[in-house]
Amino acid sequence: NRLVRLRSRPVGMVRRDDFEIVDEPARDAGEGEFRVRIEYVSLDPAMRGWIAAGKSYVPPVEIGAVMRGFAAGHVDQSNHPDYKVGDAVAGLLGVQHYAVSKGERCFKVDPTKAPLERWIGGLGMPGQTAYFGLLEVGKPKPGETVVVSAASGAVGSIVGQIAKIVGCRAVGIAGGPEKCRYVVEELGFDACADYKGGNLAEELKAACPDGVDVYYENVGGEILDTVLPMMNLFGRIPVCGLISAYNATEPQPGPKNLRSILVNRLTMRGLIVFDFQDRMAEANEKLGQWHAEGRLRMREDVREGGIEAFPDVLNLLYTGGNFGKLVLKL
Ligand code: NDP
Repeated sequence: NRLVRLRSRPVGMVRRDDFEIVDEPARDAGEGEFRVRIEYVSLDPAMRGWIAAGKSYVPPVEIGAVMRGFAAGHVDQSNHPDYKVGDAVAGLLGVQHYAVSKGERCFKVDPTKAPLERWIGGLGMPGQTAYFGLLEVGKPKPGETVVVSAASGAVGSIVGQIAKIVGCRAVGIAGGPEKCRYVVEELGFDACADYKGGNLAEELKAACPDGVDVYYENVGGEILDTVLPMMNLFGRIPVCGLISAYNATEPQPGPKNLRSILVNRLTMRGLIVFDFQDRMAEANEKLGQWHAEGRLRMREDVREGGIEAFPDVLNLLYTGGNFGKLVLKL
């Protein structure tokens, strides 16, 4: 079993030396367990937080432990009543070639409905995050304007498409003309502003003539400060991610435009997808249905290079080097 262990806590962007790639004999499935041969590993922005010290919503990956990560593959051994050899599965299985599981944070998937890698993308955790973050925390009403940052990515792309499904105006923020064009032409958003183009505020104002009712936050920093003054009365800001600061080595300044929260009586609320664990069946059913109907389009950015490429591929997320849900093929 070739796997990735955490060697040291990174400072700034991760380095190859922060991880150790090791070969160990794969363990057999014990009583009540099954073993998965992993084919795709998910690269998630949260991984940077999982390997940092300090208080978070989950304990950090211990030094020396297998890197935490979502993955998808097929069962190759089973002593578990609900999983049989050959079943396709996805879940929190770790960055490794073989994982033994009792079925926690794992679910069976149907590769005839979507390719295996999509079940760790739009039909998996990122899609579930978009679903609950927008609908439960953002509470969009038909006719409202929803703005989402990192709009071409795994979570953002689904947020905007669900906003359209529930009758809202969907406006993205993304880096560069190619991603912005994709968000509008392929995903069906009403507009997309390019934060790398130098005119974010002007572009957003033009794209949101009635202001912003829901700002789905994936990035933080200057982008949040640009959107805050455009928020409407009683607007909602689901705080899903703050990727612009994940590799920061110094404390980051807070938003300057806090006054908008006061005068507009805004609600800003953080969310973690695991909070909705007992309602996953609902999200999975809806996402699957919309996907089958062709109303949710999804794009994966599949990287080769094997498990050795893990640190370099992970860093793509923090520079916008990915285009779509980033996965590593083993
Ligand atoms: P994406 O597929 O969106 O990839 C990350 C994207 O973030 C990049 O492609 C880039 O897009 C953008 N980005 C990176 N750095 C910056 C920066 N400094 N300024 C502006 N944009 C930047 O990743 P995900 O969809 O997986 O994740 C999106 C967000 O959702 C992250 O913040 C993540 O932590 C969060 N998340 C939260 C969860 C929760 O439970 N709360 C669960 C899952 C994800 P571009 O090229 O457009 O700049």
